Amino acid sequence: AHVAGKVEWNGVGVLRDGHRVKVLGNVGSPADAVAAAAAGAEGVGLFRTEFCFLSSTQEPTVEDQRAAYAAVLAPFAGKPVVVRTLDAGADKPLAFLEPDPEPNPALGVRGLRVAFDRPEVLDRQLEAIALAAKDSGADVSVMAPMVATAAEAAWFVDRARKAGIERVGVMIEIPAAALTAREILAVVDFVSLGTNDLAQYTFAADRQVGAVATLNDPWQPGLLRLVKLVGDAGTELGKPVGVCGEAAADPLLACVLTGLGVTSLSMNHTALAGVGAKLASTSFDLCQLAARGALGAHDPASAKLAARAPH
Ligand code: PEP
Ligand code: MG
Repeated sequence: AHVAGKVEWNGVGVLRDGHRVKVLGNVGSPADAVAAAAAGAEGVGLFRTEFCFLSSTQEPTVEDQRAAYAAVLAPFAGKPVVVRTLDAGADKPLAFLEPDPEPNPALGVRGLRVAFDRPEVLDRQLEAIALAAKDSGADVSVMAPMVATAAEAAWFVDRARKAGIERVGVMIEIPAAALTAREILAVVDFVSLGTNDLAQYTFAADRQVGAVATLNDPWQPGLLRLVKLVGDAGTELGKPVGVCGEAAADPLLACVLTGLGVTSLSMNHTALAGVGAKLASTSFDLCQLAARGALGAHDPASAKLAARAPH
C-alpha cells in the first residue's frame, strides 16, 4: 500500500462504487519513472520526451533516442505508457528545433507545429519510440502536443500508424481543440487534456508570468466548462479522455474531473497516493454532483466550495 498522510491507497484507481479512473504518472527521466512506479502509478499518462534532450545541441540519433526512451519505459514493462512526441518551443526550447525569432513564442511554432515544417524529425522520433517500446515491453501509445484541429490530429495519426504504433492520441490544450473534441476524437484513439496550456490559452495568461497566475487557476469555471465538452465527447464516442496537467494532482479537483467524464489522471509521483486515496473515498454520483457545483460557480474559490459540499 502507498501512504499519503494518514490515508492508504492500494495502487488501483477505483472509486468506492467500482468506477475506474486510471491513476498514472507524469515522467521525463528514468528517475521520474522509477519514482512513479514505486509510488504505485498504474502506468504513465505523460512521458515528456523533450525533457530527455533539453541540453542537446543537435537532433539525437534514432539509436540515442531509442536508448533514452527505453530507459524511461523500463519500470513500466507490461503497463500502459503514453509517450508524447517532442513539445519544443515557448517554455521548453530545444536548441536543435529553434524556430525563427517570434514575438510570441507560446503562439508560434511549438509542439506539433514544428513537425509540419520538419516531418522527418517526427518520423525519426516515432521510429525510435516504436523500437524502445519493443525493447522495454511497455504497452506504448503516442500522443502529439499542441494540436489545434482535427485535420492536424489526422495528419499525426497517419504518420504514427505508418511507424507501426497502434494507439495514437493527441493532447487537448488549445481551446479550439476542446471546442471540436468530437471531431478530434473521431480520428484518434484517445485524448489527454493539458490543463496547464489549456488554462494559459483560455485566459490569455502566460503560464510563466506570476502576475496572472490567479487566472491560470485550474479551478476556474471557464476552464472546467471546456473540460466538460471534452468529457462529454469522450463519453459519447466511448473513447478515453485523460488529464495530464497539474489539475490532475489536486485530489478534490480529481473528483470534479472524474465527474466531468475524465477516465484517467496523470500526475507527478508525489501526488499519486493522495489522489488515489481521495478517489477511493468517493463515488461517481458524488463526483458528478461536485462537477455540477463547480461548473456553475462564479470563481475558483466558490467552485472549490461547491465541490467540497458533497465530499
Ligand atoms: C499541459 O500543458 O498541461 C501539459 C501537461 O503539458 P506541458 O506542461 O508539458 O506543456
Ligand atoms: Mg502543454
